[in-house]
Formats: sequence, C-alpha cells, structure tokens
Amino acid sequence: MTFPKFEYLAPQTLDEAISILEEKGPEVRVMAGGTDLLVKMRQGLLKPRTVVSLKRIQGLDKISFDRKDGLRIGATALLADVASHPSVRSHYPAVAYAASETANVQIRNMGTVAGNLCNAAPSADNAPVLTAMGACVVLAGPRGERCLPLDAFFLGPGLTAMEPSEILTEIRVPFPRRGTGTSYQHLSARGKVDISAVGVGVMLRVEGKTCREAGIILGAVAPTPLRARRTEKLLVGKSLTADLLERAGRSAAAESAPISDVRATASYRRKMVAVLTRRALSEAYERARRNAKKR
Ligand SMILES: Cc1cc2nc3c(=O)[nH]c(=O)nc-3n(C[C@H](O)[C@H](O)[C@H](O)COP(=O)(O)OP(=O)(O)OC[C@H]3O[C@@H](n4cnc5c(N)ncnc54)[C@H](O)[C@@H]3O)c2cc1C
Repeated sequence: MTFPKFEYLAPQTLDEAISILEEKGPEVRVMAGGTDLLVKMRQGLLKPRTVVSLKRIQGLDKISFDRKDGLRIGATALLADVASHPSVRSHYPAVAYAASETANVQIRNMGTVAGNLCNAAPSADNAPVLTAMGACVVLAGPRGERCLPLDAFFLGPGLTAMEPSEILTEIRVPFPRRGTGTSYQHLSARGKVDISAVGVGVMLRVEGKTCREAGIILGAVAPTPLRARRTEKLLVGKSLTADLLERAGRSAAAESAPISDVRATASYRRKMVAVLTRRALSEAYERARRNAKKR
C-alpha cells in the first residue's frame, strides 16, 4: 500500500501548533511518535491533509516530579524514558511498568505515553493505572488550558473529549498518599508482539489491613477503559483478606463487558479479568503496606 501525500509541519512553539490546528480544521492531525498515526495512514484508515509534529516544541518532552505537584509527563516524553525514569520507578512503579510493557523496544523509543492515551484504544496499556491513580491531562487550545481527569477523557474506541484544535500537553499524576500501592497486570497472546487482550490497573490505599480507597480500571474489555465501581465499593472499609480479593476478582469480571475478537474470546477475557484483578489487588496491597511503613 502506498503512503498518501500530506503536508508536514513541525512548529517550534505550542501557540504556533494550536494556530495551525485552528486554521487547518478537521483535516489535520497532531503527531508525537507517529507509531499509531503513520500505521493508520499507511493502511488508509486516516487521511489527514496536514500532519503537525510536536517534536520540535521545546520542553514538551519533560518528565518532572516533586511531592507537592506529583508526576508530570510531557506530551513528547517517550515510553522508554517514562519506563526508566528514577522517580517514576520509585514512586509510581506501576506507571513505569505499564510503559515498559507497551509494545517493543523500537516503539518505546519513538512512541509516547500521551500518544498512547490520545489514540484511545480500549487496550491502551498506559490508561488503566494512570486512570486508577486519578491522573488528569492538560489540554491546550485556542481558549487556553484545561485539566481533564482521565475518567472523563475516553469517550469510545479512538474517541476522546479533546476538541479538534486542542493538544494534550501534559499528564499529571498526584503524589500517592501514605499507604498507597499500585499495580498493572496484563496479558497478550504473543508476549511482546501483540497488544493486550486484557489489562487491569489498580490503586489501593490502606490503613493497617483496611482498605480506605480503591481504584480499579479494566482495559480491553469495554469500548473505553472501564472503572469497576461495584468492585471498588466492595473493598472500601473492609479488611483485605485473600477471600475478599478473590471475590473482588469475580466481581470485576461480572462488571466487564468484553467482546470476542482476533485476540481472545469474550469468555476467556472475562475469566482473565478475575485472575488479573486478584493479582493486581494482591500486588498493590503488598506495595501499600510497604509504603505505609516507609515514611
Ligand atoms: C508494532 C506495534 C506494537 C504496538 N504495541 C502496543 C502495545 O503493546 N500496547 C499499546 O498500548 N499500544 C501499542 N501500540 C500502539 C502505539 O505504539 C502506542 O499507542 C504509542 O504509545 C503511541 O504513541 P505515539 O507517540 O507514537 O502516538 P502517535 O502515533 O503520534 O499518535 C497517536 C494518536 O494520538 C494523537 N496524538 C498524539 N499525541 C497527541 C497530543 N499530544 N495531543 C493530541 N493528540 C495527540 C495523534 O493525532 C494520533 O491520532 C503498538 C503499535 C505498533 C505499531
């Protein structure tokens, strides 16, 4: 298949990029690493007249962390850089792990976490744990900036709450409170080659053995990353026994709404939601207990 002709622009400032989006209208696409966009263009699934690269805008690749503002991941920060960043690894291990498990080494050295979210695939590996941790995305457009929780960002497969002339500039993840633990568990048919058939992101905050807060997000089993609300409620205020974690797995499976496709059948996916949710809760609980002792 031949590559379609398109105009390529690489502005040096965010204002310039936003003006281009406003001026060119719906026939323009933003590009970060291009690992999704260019594949879809080659396949003829997307036919933008203009592609606006963010790569030359200084500062957009920044990853920063402090205890007050938490973690900030810029729009062009690579998956590989997020996965290996010392502060991400020590304070947000599940975020680092999700980035490290996305695709393969070539894609991680070109693709971005922001692009993974903007692409809005139900299976996006970075969405579940970031959403479970209460992350929000900063969207810059002609009328200024707004910060939108990830819970409100995904509207459907390939569809987000971003306006056509908006650019996601930063992902903000709050600093985890004392006693917080997180986990991301996923599986795909062929290890590092296929995208996830199921993914589960979990955030737990505990006091002693009691769960005070729970965030459980299921990936690839609904049109958007799905919050397992009934399962979250099942855990809060209770002692996290092995039996409760087992029940939570079954509850999350009942809340999931998977379809059968080339990657897995709906019934296999549902069974794996139960297994991966239990595993994710168990790992998050262990980390939460360690975190409660640490500071
Ligand atoms: C071989 C292969 C394997 C893959 N494996 C996985 C996998 O295991 N898990 C997984 O989740 N994904 C996987 N992907 C998908 C893809 O690589 C990731 O989603 C990647 O993170 C996309 O980032 P990018 O920077 O390349 O996005 P791009 O391709 O540049 O953009 C993706 C989409 O988001 C939009 N966009 C990008 N950045 C912004 C922004 N800042 N503001 C507004 N819109 C924006 C673009 O217009 C486009 O529609 C795979 C892709 C390939 C080709």
